[in-house]
This record gives sequence, structure tokens and C-alpha cells, in this order.
Amino acid sequence: MFKNVALWIIIAIAMVMLFQLLNNKQPIRTEISYSEFIAQVTSDNVAAVTIKEKKINGETSDGTQFDTYAPDDAKMVDLLREHNVKINAQPADSTPWYMQLLISWLPIIILIGLWIFFMRNMQGGAGNKAFSFGKSRARMMVQDQRKITFKDVAGVDEAKEELEEIVEFLKEPSKFQRLGGKIPKGVLLVGPPGTGKTLLARAVAGEAGVAFFSISGSDFVEMFVGVGAARIRDLFEQGKKNAPCIIFMDEIDAVGRHRGAGLGGGHDEREQTLNALLVEMDGFESTEGVILIAATNRPDVLDPALLRPGRFDRQVIVPLPDYKGRMEILKVHIEKVPLADEVNLEVVARGTPGFSGADMANLVNEAALMAARAGKDKVESADFDEARDKITMGKARKNNAITEKEKNMTAYHEAGHAIVASMTPFATPVHKVTIIPRGMAGGYTSLLPEERSYESKDHLTAMITLSMGGRAAESLVFGHFTTGARTDIQHSTDIAQRMVTVYGMSEQIGPISYGKKEEAIFLGKDIATHKNYSEQTAVIIDGEVRKIVESCYKKAYEILNYNKLLLDKMAEMLLEKETILAVDVDNLVKEYADEKWREMATVNAVTKKGEAGLTD
Ligand code: ADP
Ligand code: MG
Ligand code: ZN
Repeated sequence: MFKNVALWIIIAIAMVMLFQLLNNKQPIRTEISYSEFIAQVTSDNVAAVTIKEKKINGETSDGTQFDTYAPDDAKMVDLLREHNVKINAQPADSTPWYMQLLISWLPIIILIGLWIFFMRNMQGGAGNKAFSFGKSRARMMVQDQRKITFKDVAGVDEAKEELEEIVEFLKEPSKFQRLGGKIPKGVLLVGPPGTGKTLLARAVAGEAGVAFFSISGSDFVEMFVGVGAARIRDLFEQGKKNAPCIIFMDEIDAVGRHRGAGLGGGHDEREQTLNALLVEMDGFESTEGVILIAATNRPDVLDPALLRPGRFDRQVIVPLPDYKGRMEILKVHIEKVPLADEVNLEVVARGTPGFSGADMANLVNEAALMAARAGKDKVESADFDEARDKITMGKARKNNAITEKEKNMTAYHEAGHAIVASMTPFATPVHKVTIIPRGMAGGYTSLLPEERSYESKDHLTAMITLSMGGRAAESLVFGHFTTGARTDIQHSTDIAQRMVTVYGMSEQIGPISYGKKEEAIFLGKDIATHKNYSEQTAVIIDGEVRKIVESCYKKAYEILNYNKLLLDKMAEMLLEKETILAVDVDNLVKEYADEKWREMATVNAVTKKGEAGLTD
């Protein structure tokens, strides 16, 4: 606001000055020398003159105008009077004092203006910040903002339960202190991005009905040393003034990073900020009714001092939702979305393993947008399918030039996956097979995994076999391979490796774990693997992994070899329809499967349960 006004004032002043300059310009006249002027006067050629100090404007008797400058010539006026020239005298004009002042100071004013302008820009431009560096930027939640309660957060029941306790602390502290217990000072919400940590913190404030200060860790990270620390102190002061209240620090890893971890050593700004935070946390008692809630998705980088009892002594893990959780989150987000009757939320929830709450919200939104774009009144299951595929694999590349040959190859590859999946007991059931390219993939077979907390060896082997189905089909039909099986191979190798080195599922290695992993378990992230075995063991491990993958490949090849007719029919259908669903797969299997294999074919779990809702 101020910046704009200042800019406009400068522009206006510049305009006025320009205008004045142009306005002052005299009409152009001929300039003559003084002696010529005297000569003209003497020969009675001059009718009138206007004298302004030393400047003389004259008019000859035939009307031409001229200018000249006179030296100190005392006799000039006498001469003019002698020759009856009309004399007009004017005072010397002077620029008004303020204009003179302005002109001499203008460059400096402009420079100062520019300096202020840039300084403000550098600081991110917000408000009068130049003078309030040390003030915290915590935003107090406005009361009339739509209140978020625990009802808005679904699928994270354990976390909710723990936080409900905090709500009770805030509502009725005396109840808990009766037996001398201390109310926790800080709660740290830990979990992958998008699982609802920020949402949960806001829900706590909404439930408890207390003031809520929300600030992000990055607000403390400033260019100037000491600013972050001052902000922390101010934040706690504000909190104490407004007790009972909740102070919420989002993304605390921005300040809470392990000290001494960064480059540049010693006393950097972040370290000072963190120290201030630690000191402040020690300095207040939760009896004052201030509870600190922080959220992070990188607990591994947090300074251990933050986590010790008396600071963030409670850690609440907010994990990725499981099947049931996804179902509940879906229910929260579809409240305002009209659904077609055929939509089966169970299928949607089952088909989205690994999705976070934010992903689920995004899924519903994308599906609603897609249905709206197609002019539908209700969101259909096809929209959810499309939205899910778009989120996980990228947009469909419908107009991409693909040769018939490539398409044929992809059809056989995907049909191979689908058939092997149907005919291998313990494999995850197929949901959909498509040869519409999407993202990096030429086509894909999507599965409907069942939620399970541990996996059996049979299941893992079945998954490797399923992955090998694509490549086996290529080899069986075309006799050569394409790069299309790259991810399949990687996937199978990964599973086999884990079977051997982590799960102890190989006979030769036995129940011994190799390759110590540093991983943040609940983040599902491998950070590094240390090789903690000898070269000989490495050779054995490699051999075992190879044995598993190769036997699975052989099995897949065998299945397809027996069922060549089925493979041809499914590829044909895929080429015709581009996308086929679980029911189609099952029908084809029923009709064309080889007798010997027919009994072994497990009917797709989805259709078996009659919960399909998956029509064309
Ligand atoms: P985080 O802070 O853990 O990264 P957010 O709380 O900011 O995640 O979640 C982002 C959005 O995702 C929320 O606004 C909400 O719409 C949706 N969301 C995430 N988790 C849940 C959940 N458990 N229940 C309902 N909605 C959720
Ligand atoms: Mg967040
Ligand atoms: Zn494949």
C-alpha cells in the first residue's frame, strides 16, 4: 500500500517538472548579436523591445521577432529612446524556491525512495516489517472461521484418541493434576506429508475452544541472526498472555534440525533459534494452560534435545491410512459430492493403497472435476478410476503416436500379467487392464490389493510371478523382449531380494538379516543400506534371488504356454476395447482357459464377492 503511494507520488512529481520545463520554453526566435541590434535601432528598424535583465526580446517594424543579450551598456536605453523604440521592462523571473529546492534534492530523494523500495522487497514485502523484526508472525485463528473438529479428521483414530486427552487437559486441568501428575507441555505430531497433521492440530483447538496460535517453522528462519530467537520469545509471551491456548508450530524441522548438522558450523541463526525454543519450553509450566503442538514429517532430523521429557514429551504418530481409514476419509470428502448409485466406495478405497488423506481429498476433487467436464450430474466409478490413474501415473496420453506393432506388444504384455494374476493362487486380484498409455507406462494392469499387516511367502512369490507374466507373454508370442518390462523386473528383483535378506524366506540363507537398513519405519523410507556381509555371502544371496525370480518366470511362462488361446483372446479384446475390467478377465478365463488349469484359476476376488460395481 505505502509502497504504491510513494511510487505514484514520485511519478507525479516527475510529470509536473517535465510539464513545467516544456511550458517554459519560449517560441523560437532568431538570435542576433548586440551590435547588429544597435545597428537595427540606429536605422530605425526596431519597433519595440522587452528588457528582462540582460535579455532583450525585440520586434522589428516589419513584425519579425528576435532575441539578443545586452552587455552593461548604460547608453542603450538613451539610444532606444532617441529612436522612439517602445520599451517594456520586466523583472528577472526566478523559479520558485520550492522548485529550486526540489530540483537540487530530487536525485537524492529518488535514490532514497529506491533504497526503501528494495529493502521492503527483500524482506518479502509484508506490512511494516522493517520495524517489527522481532515480533512473531503467529496468526491467531479467528473465531468465526469454520471450526474444524475431530469429525473432519478421519481414519487416524489412535492419534485422535491421544489428542482427545490434550483437549481434556485444556478444558479441565485440575482433574489431571489431582494426583500430582504434570500435564504434558508439548505434543509432536509425526507422519508423512498429507496425513492430516495440520488438520488435527486445528481440530484440537476447535474441540477445546481455546485460542490457537499457528506459526510455521520457516517463519523463524530469517536472514538476520537473532531475529528467529526474538520471534520465539515473542511467540511464547503472546501465548502466556492468551492462556489457555495452543501454540502450533507446523513443519518444526525447519528450526528443530539437529544442531551442528549443517555446513558452516558453530553459531548460525537456526541454532540460536532452536536454543531460544528450548529455553522457552523449559521456562513455562503447562499449568499456565499453554500447550505446544508441533508437526513434522522428518522426525529423524530433529535435535534430540527437543524430544526429551519435559519438552515434546508426547509423540503422536499420524500414519498413512489403511483401507478402513481411506474409506472413512473418503466419506468425509464426498459429503458434498453427488455420487452415482453404482459407485462402490470399498473398491475405491481398496484401489488406492499408499494414498494419504490429502491424496484422497485430491482424488475426490479430481473425480468431481472430471465428471463435471464430461457434463455428468453425478460422479461415477469410472471418474474415480480415471482420477486415481491420473494421480498415480500421470495423465493419459491418448493422442500419442503409437504404432500398431507397439500396441499389439503392449496388449500381449498386459494380458500376460492379467492371466497369470488370475491363475496364480495368492496373487492380488486384477482390477482393470488397459493399453492406454499413461505417464511413462505404455499400458498397465491395476490390482486391488487387500490390506494385510504381514505378507506370506506364497503371496510374495505370486506377486513376482505376476510381474513376470508380461515378459513371459512377450517371449512366448514374439520371441524377443522389449524394454517395457523394465519396471516389472525391478519390482520382482526388489521383492526377491527382500525375501532373501530381510524376511529370511530362502532355505540356503535361512532366518538371517543381511544389509542393515537405516529407515524411518513409519515414513516407509529407506535412508541407506549398509553392506554388512562378506563377498561369499553376497554370492549366495545373488544366487538365491536369481533362483526365486527365475522359477517364478518359468511358472508364468508355463501358465501362458498352456493358455495360449486365452492369451490371444484377451490381447484381441484389449486391442479392441483398450480397457477391460475384472469381470471381462474372469469371463475370458472361464471360457478359454485350458482344462488342466481351469481348476486352478482363482476367480477374481472382486467379482466373487459380488461387489463389482465395475461395469463397462
Ligand atoms: P499434513 O499437515 O499432515 O501435511 P494436512 O493436515 O495439511 O496434512 O492435510 C491436507 C489436506 O488433506 C487436509 O486439508 C484435508 O483436506 C486432507 N486430509 C488429510 N488427512 C485427512 C484425514 N485424516 N481426514 C480427512 N481429511 C484429510
Ligand atoms: Mg501440514
Ligand atoms: Zn508389465
